Amino acid sequence: MEVQVTRSSMPEYKEYIDEIKELWDTRWLTNNGVKHKQLERELVEYMGVKNVKLFTNGHLALEYIIQAFDLKGEIITVPFTFASTTHAIVRNGIRPVFCDVNEDNYTIDVEQIESLISDKTTAIMPVHVYGNICNVEVIDKIAKKYNLKVIYDAAHAFGIKFKGQGIGSYGDASMFSFHATKVFHTIEGGAIACSDKKVLNKLEALKNFGIESEDSISFAGGNAKMNEFQAAMGICNLRHIEKEISKREIIFKRYIENLREVQGIKVLNNQKDVKSNYAYFPIILDEQLVTRDNLINELESRGIKARKYFYPLTSNFKCYESLFKDNKTPIAEKISNNVLCLPMYSDLSLEMVDKICSIIKR
Ligand SMILES: *Cc1c(COP(=O)(O)O)cnc(C)c1O
Repeated sequence: MEVQVTRSSMPEYKEYIDEIKELWDTRWLTNNGVKHKQLERELVEYMGVKNVKLFTNGHLALEYIIQAFDLKGEIITVPFTFASTTHAIVRNGIRPVFCDVNEDNYTIDVEQIESLISDKTTAIMPVHVYGNICNVEVIDKIAKKYNLKVIYDAAHAFGIKFKGQGIGSYGDASMFSFHATKVFHTIEGGAIACSDKKVLNKLEALKNFGIESEDSISFAGGNAKMNEFQAAMGICNLRHIEKEISKREIIFKRYIENLREVQGIKVLNNQKDVKSNYAYFPIILDEQLVTRDNLINELESRGIKARKYFYPLTSNFKCYESLFKDNKTPIAEKISNNVLCLPMYSDLSLEMVDKICSIIKR
């Protein structure tokens, strides 16, 4: 049997079909339809945030929120992330300034942020990774002190709570991805959580060609609207999200039980005051003891797919080669070179988890 590193969760076929049935009567398929409105309302409630704007995908949401805040100059961010974060900054004509990550949870090293601030810095864009969160309280203090915006790439962080509060309520805005492989999905999709009404109005116009009202086009916007079929998938998936996350928690704990004591492997730490979503199960290999490619091949020969995620660092991408040659983020480099994400999805069996772990141990 083949085991992929992830597997999209889906509602029962009939549940989705029932959800989309009325679209054949209304013939209202996109542009803020009933499903779209319903999903936005339900997400505000579930995510514990003030407002949610839906998008075609998470990446466009990130590009557009940068525009809605009218950011320029430099943004401090991390290279240990998916391509999207860095590309969104660069595609807006802004220079990413890379901060290293910390060894505890692989998010931005808050100790180093201040030393990277220049008179061109307009924002900080940290990334919550794997189901762990950034040090939001310290980031908030730094941002206030230097009058910077904070936009989180929260693509991995759907459903996470910190001190009882929705993770999307921290910072000036957060981008969530609803891609098929994420904990919660709308096939493709994404959202911005933000509490600034003015920014939200601009964001709403930006994702629909800049149209503010029928006769008034105030921004050179693009098109990033979520359609009704995507929203209907979200409505269905949201009904099952708690069960989804608790199944992941059981799998996560089984992995930990199996691997905690294994020499040469570091597993994720639980963070204090955080209700996680158990989005991924990364292990960090001790390069003195295990070669990552050997382990990948060993697993693959038994039909199990593990993924180097995130690798390479975005600062090492071919398209940026000449730009960030002097970039110094040694911890991110080390983690990226030795991280391996093991299969993680809600209907992965515990027997399979045990089997994967026994191959690793051997
Ligand atoms: C998935 C992901 C994105 C992009 O989201 P899409 O919905 O696929 O566009 C951005 N950042 C991170 C960290 C991601 O994992």
